[in-house]
Amino acid sequence: MDIGIDLGTTNVIMTMGNKGIVLNEPSAIAYNRKKKEVVAVGEEADKMIGKVPPHIVTIRPLANGVISDEDMTQCMIREFIYKVIGHRPLRPQIVICVPSFITKVEYKAVIEAAHSAGARKVYLIEEPIAALMGAGVDIERANGNLIVDIGGGTTDVAVISLNGIVIARSIKVGGNKIDDSIVNYISSKYKVLIGEKMAETAKKKLTTVIEPKEEVNMLVKGRSLTSGMPVQFEISQIDIFNAILDDVSAIVELVKRVVEETPPELVSDIYENGILLTGGGAHLGGLDKLIAGELGVDCFAAKNPTFCVAKGTAKAFKHLNTLLDGFEYIAQH
Ligand code: ADP
Ligand code: MG
Repeated sequence: MDIGIDLGTTNVIMTMGNKGIVLNEPSAIAYNRKKKEVVAVGEEADKMIGKVPPHIVTIRPLANGVISDEDMTQCMIREFIYKVIGHRPLRPQIVICVPSFITKVEYKAVIEAAHSAGARKVYLIEEPIAALMGAGVDIERANGNLIVDIGGGTTDVAVISLNGIVIARSIKVGGNKIDDSIVNYISSKYKVLIGEKMAETAKKKLTTVIEPKEEVNMLVKGRSLTSGMPVQFEISQIDIFNAILDDVSAIVELVKRVVEETPPELVSDIYENGILLTGGGAHLGGLDKLIAGELGVDCFAAKNPTFCVAKGTAKAFKHLNTLLDGFEYIAQH
């Protein structure tokens, strides 16, 4: 029973053998500091955030582009593995895709967690490779593909050629930063504080990065910063457009920079293949068209972009010879 894990900053998605996706839950954990035990992981832990007594900590250990708590990350991974294999004495092989920004020490923590949950072998796969495979590109033939993965914590842009990463650049602008920008914009323009979840909902419903319309709007609820009382009011596509303008520009600039740094032979391949968007942020309305317009290269969002990396980890078992065992991987990076 081979297991693939996309250890995302927002969501952990797991695949198992030919069953496809068997788990998709927030990267969150609730831990009892007095008893030193895990209270909940995933969905259940996420619901507890902000609602628990002080001796229980609820955290998203991978959020904001840093593994904020190594031990918590380890506990979370272990619990997720137990969730899908149960406490059966299975010794699965595991392919894990970890966020691009993690350090050697953190890599080691991830691998150890998987071994301690029973893994016989742990392989690490780089995110752009997994995303590309999951999007259905034949990795062995891949020549000059440019992939942009917009996750919760980061946007990662990479050029891949013949199984390998030629260039990879990352910025800490992703879905979470965009949500923050919406919260900040609404508070300065309307003097109302809205919650992060509300901002995320508005982003999913309203975002278009080209030609926003006043008529497309929705009701949001928040707390007035002047009276302190709950209020509700309408915001439109134009509000969201203005709120996230800088973040979207940062993403487009990053893609441009990577193209500029790419060797000319590969640039012509990229023109041929187009640019691929993956990760939850690939859903941002009109982003493909905006990038295509700014760079003069075709750009398209992958089908089911949130699941590309997870699907790629499952497909990677067919190419185990191209992957490094976890500890070899650390030694080489
Ligand atoms: P990670 O790999 O970091 O766990 P994901 O690829 O799962 O992240 O993407 C999560 C991000 O995608 C979140 O910030 C979420 O708000 C955003 N997202 C998901 N669906 C949409 C959508 N329809 N429109 C815009 N953003 C979305
Ligand atoms: Mg991801």
